[in-house]
Amino acid sequence: MTEVPDAVARLARDARRVTVLTGAGMSAESGVPTFRDAQTGLWARFDPEQLATETAFRRDPALVFGWYAARLAGVRAVAPNAGHLALAEWGRRAEVRIATQNVDDLHERAGSDVLAHLHGSLAAFRCLDCGRPFGGTIPAPDAAGRAEPPQCASCGGPIRPGVVWFGEALPERALSDAVAACTDADLVLVVGTSGLVHPAAGLPAVARRAGVPVVEINPDRTPLSASADHAWRTTAAIGLPALVARLG
Ligand code: ZN
Repeated sequence: MTEVPDAVARLARDARRVTVLTGAGMSAESGVPTFRDAQTGLWARFDPEQLATETAFRRDPALVFGWYAARLAGVRAVAPNAGHLALAEWGRRAEVRIATQNVDDLHERAGSDVLAHLHGSLAAFRCLDCGRPFGGTIPAPDAAGRAEPPQCASCGGPIRPGVVWFGEALPERALSDAVAACTDADLVLVVGTSGLVHPAAGLPAVARRAGVPVVEINPDRTPLSASADHAWRTTAAIGLPALVARLG
């Protein structure tokens, strides 16, 4: 088992309220392809910027919907890793609030409540026109990778993925919940995110201004490393179980 830095173990043990910010590195060890890695096969000739926009969806709904249906199927085919499970276990011992940039549902499937999906969720679809959530079946992509979006039962509009597209603002409620959770905590952990994507990138700074210690868990150095109280070079699936084992 990996060595937990004593100062990190102490902060974790003493914290009653822990806020965890997670990014792509959290899910990588489950085998969830990153956004760019999802650009393979049928969709390889498109940039994400060509697929993940409302303009693209309006231009070719079946192309864009098919890509998201395939990504959803990809997420459903993988399982939460030891890092997700450790956070769920921690949540049974302390108040653990999770704000994630990930659009997968691996935290939930591990048994955690997610406070905020900052970039939306692959599993949550809604009407493009009236916003009504869609609870029906998501069609599988055909051999060409295309899938016609279902129609809204209320207004007949096309059903769109519940993720944040390029050019769209983050969900206001998710962002304000995450900001509150970063100021009102005994410890903020930043797991597997380079911290480069704004405005979520500003959350660790929000915590530090409020006097909340920030611990980074990431195998690589990131722009956050220098300002974090501790930068622990480990991965989510190795570091988090080791940390939770030290809680006593
Ligand atoms: Zn509608």
